[in-house]
Amino acid sequence: MPPTKILVNGAGISGSVLAFFLAKHSPKFSITVLERSRANQKLGQGLEIEEPALTVVKAMEIMDQLQQLRTGELGFRLVDKRARSRGPTGALELMRGDLTEVLYKAADAFENVNYRFESTVKSMVETEKEKGKVVVEIQKRGEENVSTEEFDLVVGADGVRSTTRQMVMGDSRDWYKPLGAYVAYFSIPKEDRDWPDSKACHFTNRRFMWLRPTGEHSKQTSAYLIHMNNNVPALHEANATGDRAKQKQALADLFSNCGWESKRVIEQMLKADNFYSDEIVQIKLPTWSKGRVALLGDAAWAPTPFTGQGNQLAIIGAWVLAQEISRDSSTIAFEKYEKRLREYVEECQQIPLGGYMPALVVPETRLGIWLFRTVFSIMAWFIKLTQRKKPAAGSGKVDKPFDLQMDKLESKGLGQ
Ligand SMILES: Cc1cc2nc3c(=O)[nH]c(=O)nc-3n(C[C@H](O)[C@H](O)[C@H](O)COP(=O)(O)OP(=O)(O)OC[C@H]3O[C@@H](n4cnc5c(N)ncnc54)[C@H](O)[C@@H]3O)c2cc1C
Repeated sequence: MPPTKILVNGAGISGSVLAFFLAKHSPKFSITVLERSRANQKLGQGLEIEEPALTVVKAMEIMDQLQQLRTGELGFRLVDKRARSRGPTGALELMRGDLTEVLYKAADAFENVNYRFESTVKSMVETEKEKGKVVVEIQKRGEENVSTEEFDLVVGADGVRSTTRQMVMGDSRDWYKPLGAYVAYFSIPKEDRDWPDSKACHFTNRRFMWLRPTGEHSKQTSAYLIHMNNNVPALHEANATGDRAKQKQALADLFSNCGWESKRVIEQMLKADNFYSDEIVQIKLPTWSKGRVALLGDAAWAPTPFTGQGNQLAIIGAWVLAQEISRDSSTIAFEKYEKRLREYVEECQQIPLGGYMPALVVPETRLGIWLFRTVFSIMAWFIKLTQRKKPAAGSGKVDKPFDLQMDKLESKGLGQ
């Protein structure tokens, strides 16, 4: 029997977790992972992995490496001129680039996984049903020629702006749910005061600045700018064209002279080479697959950072999809994957506080900011009071992921 050829487009979090579990499950799969970025390009800032996704990560036996890469952030402080309130940080906090590199190396260690960086899909066509193949044109950056290859299954794990999704499902605006919020993130040189807590400050007109440490001995600090001010045509224009210099200038105009750390952050933003900015968009598709092509992670269901679920769902979704493909490597796997996950994903996609969370978290007026800070202080105090000591991430042991000894996933109805 020839191997089942599976193409994964995108080597982010979901793509590499999928490749890992497919390969771990069976040598009969031949897995190709395409990634448009360079191999050593560590993109993104901080993120957290919580249960039940942590259980999946433990099953990959990479916890020792991840523990060493923890940013070590102690907590979260809301800052203004008078008061500071502190809340806890999540179970396992890491830099996205560190996580994607560990995941990539774990998957790449399998003989039947082949990563191709700086490569992407140019087109894909499913041949007649009875032949059951997807014909894919693949292009490497800087090369004019495309290679044409056939796969049994294709998975688009290429993020919120997925081109796989566009190719198989078209580009319907009905699936994009913009939240009217914008985010930018980049690194700035670390100052002593940036360690060990992350700190954030609100400014009027729905502007928010957040600094997160990236490690005690790191030379960098992560900076995030979030705003919900829709009257910035220059930023709209810059986001549409992806013009980094114009995006930076529009944000500099919006955040300069706000006070707190804004002078330093904006000065450094203008020099940052890992700057990323976009509108925050939720993806809600009527179905996650078409024929032999399925979507995974943000490509299928981007929940937005306001839910805090993007990374968790990417990991859990990859684990469930790998399991279903390993049971039946036909389109039935895609149906079962969606059946098992959809309800859970839709639950996780709900924007907290009845959808008003973005507006409440990034208030417009001084009074709104004061109210938010007061509620945050009370909640942080309450959590501290009631929180039992968390077990250290990685202390649990998961021996047999495919025997489904995953209590946390089971308890959420995500097991079999
Ligand atoms: C550059 C970047 C930085 C991020 N930074 C943060 C952060 O700081 N904090 C946070 O919480 N979340 C961040 N995210 C989002 C977070 O990684 C995802 O929300 C979540 O983990 C879901 O993972 P995913 O694998 O579905 O998508 P992603 O993690 O977005 O991965 C998608 C992958 O597909 C690749 N890709 C995209 N288009 C193509 C294409 N046409 N062909 C081939 N490959 C393609 C991308 O380069 C990326 O590696 C970032 C995402 C990206 C792409």
